[in-house]
Amino acid sequence: MQTTLRRTKMEGWFEYYREICPICHKTGGCIRNEEGDLVGCIRVESKKVFSQSPLTYLHSLNEKQKKVTGQWVEKQVTKLDDQFLGLMYNGLIQNQLPLLKEHSEQLKLPNRGLMEHQIVTRGYRSITRSLVNQVISPTQLKGVPGFYENNGQWKLVNGIEGMLIPYRNVYNEIVGYQIRVDNPRPEISYIESNIPNLQMLLKKDNRTVLALLEGGEVIGEKQMNIGDEYIVEYNGQKTHIRLKKGNRYFWLSSAKRNLGCSPDGPVHIAIPSERLKKLEENPSEYRGAFRAKSVWITEGALKADIAADHISKAFTPEQIAKLGDTFVATAGVQSWASILPVLKELGAEQVNIAFDMDMLTNVYVKQAVTQLLAALKTENYLINYVVWNTKDGKGIDDLFLSSKRPQVRRIGN
Ligand SMILES: [Zn+2]
Repeated sequence: MQTTLRRTKMEGWFEYYREICPICHKTGGCIRNEEGDLVGCIRVESKKVFSQSPLTYLHSLNEKQKKVTGQWVEKQVTKLDDQFLGLMYNGLIQNQLPLLKEHSEQLKLPNRGLMEHQIVTRGYRSITRSLVNQVISPTQLKGVPGFYENNGQWKLVNGIEGMLIPYRNVYNEIVGYQIRVDNPRPEISYIESNIPNLQMLLKKDNRTVLALLEGGEVIGEKQMNIGDEYIVEYNGQKTHIRLKKGNRYFWLSSAKRNLGCSPDGPVHIAIPSERLKKLEENPSEYRGAFRAKSVWITEGALKADIAADHISKAFTPEQIAKLGDTFVATAGVQSWASILPVLKELGAEQVNIAFDMDMLTNVYVKQAVTQLLAALKTENYLINYVVWNTKDGKGIDDLFLSSKRPQVRRIGN
């Protein structure tokens, strides 16, 4: 049986991860309790805030709405400490996997603008179905996200092909990877979902969508392109979906596999690769070097790496001395809470918030940013909000690449 719910860090709460949230009718992110009468929805507001990060609203279901379904993944394995993770990833991934030429070429394109020595220092790697078989583990790897046990052997997850982007902590230990997928698989997004126990399935051709009842009976089939919509009707009920562009980034995770482990969204710290290289040659200086009075906050490790290597195109050394050239990246602004302890570790006093300009049109993102600002204010950080003209670039990395300087606006006092 396929797992449709996922255990969360909260005992007794499960994420709708292949099931549809009964409140917002979307999959992923929303959670329910074991009894099935309470739902924490991340998309539809209620009077009661259940958790701040990600911002989740509590909804109670009546007897009719209440539905206890699904299978969940067995109790999650605890992730190893950063230090051990760093050692494992170095030995298993950094030392055993290459960076394929096609990926390295992508990083050198004008829109990323990285140079060979920078790419080498950052340690990007490639993952493909054939490459994962090269990774041989001499030891058991319980608690290392990305690895799972199969017939007595520990293996790297197989399936997603793309580029591995390391997430580094304040000690320059690699504590996780995001995969930048070569060919993102389209996803089914539910607009309305009223046919009970109907499953919409995208076939391997990435075009054919099947509407399946619980017993496996196919009640509809359609060839779809991205953006197309499909309405299935059955016994007077309707389910309405849209095929949307798939995610470009995924975590390297083995949470769904035997004795596998979830990466729990680590935070990445990027400093200019020149300085990173010096540190790697002299590791005893790690601790001091990653301290920074002023840091930039953005989304996505690759963006942070590129921004750190190109900030000097936009600002003078004097300006950089004030604003800093250390970038802190989360995978998504919704998980802003994980940034706070990292700011403490870095000894930061000032933060420059530089999320993609177009993100702020999304109401959930806007909420999350507001929450982050409030939390930073409570902890007395000096806060700069960084804005620019979207014509000059979508992300802060694009902006620096085109040698454009953003406006840095002090907010609060
Ligand atoms: Zn929901």
